[in-house]
Amino acid sequence: MLICPICQESLQKEEHRFVCVNNHSFDVAKEGYVNLSRKQKKGQGDNKQMVQARTRFLEKDYYAFMRAYVAGLLKTIHTETLVDMGCGQGYYTKVFSEQAMLCYGIDASKEAVRYAARHDKKTQYMAGNIFHIPLETSSVDAITALFVPPANQEAWRLLKKDGAYIVVGPGPRHCWQLKEVLYDTPYENPLPKETMKGFRMESRKILTLSHWVTDLWSLLEMTPYRYNTAYEAMEKIKHHDPMDVTFSFVVTVWRKHENND
Ligand SMILES: [Zn+2]
Repeated sequence: MLICPICQESLQKEEHRFVCVNNHSFDVAKEGYVNLSRKQKKGQGDNKQMVQARTRFLEKDYYAFMRAYVAGLLKTIHTETLVDMGCGQGYYTKVFSEQAMLCYGIDASKEAVRYAARHDKKTQYMAGNIFHIPLETSSVDAITALFVPPANQEAWRLLKKDGAYIVVGPGPRHCWQLKEVLYDTPYENPLPKETMKGFRMESRKILTLSHWVTDLWSLLEMTPYRYNTAYEAMEKIKHHDPMDVTFSFVVTVWRKHENND
């Protein structure tokens, strides 16, 4: 159940808006998403150009094997309500939502959720802050968080007891061949911690697959290396021949403890 981000009372859905008893009202855009961030700064999250680049890359389905694995995990969990934190343009959310009765996708980028809502009518998309999600405490069965900053305490608050928190991040050798071109001494990504406050780890799997990548530039744009790589190295990628690139992900399933310790 969505709650008002201003007064925390529950929100009722009307035809073109969500409204609470105190008459705080949030319009539903024509695409179907709702902006529930209390103070949406202009230009927060990915802009339109970034959303388009990301979409072009994702729709090549290099990451589809990981999406299928996570969807398979969700299938084994009885999921009435699912939240996809940092859902972006809904590439994963749309498939995950098939495993839930109710699905919410939240992302800071209004451009991303606009795209998502246009292509997925089942999920309720919202523009907002993943650290303050306007949903009731202990109301969610499963949360997915792919490549997003860890909002672990917010996930803990939202989940029912034993609820599943599925976190996906880059594996040790994710995009290794790209790093070999960019850096003199590429390093492996460290594995994430094996403990988390308020959760117990249920499973962890490293998924790896290589793909022949023709458009290395759009791959680079998907990665954080885009922002901390020297100009010369970026130029090397621009003019590089197609090559095999390893995609590797760490998928961890956490379960909520009753106690937050
Ligand atoms: Zn309100």
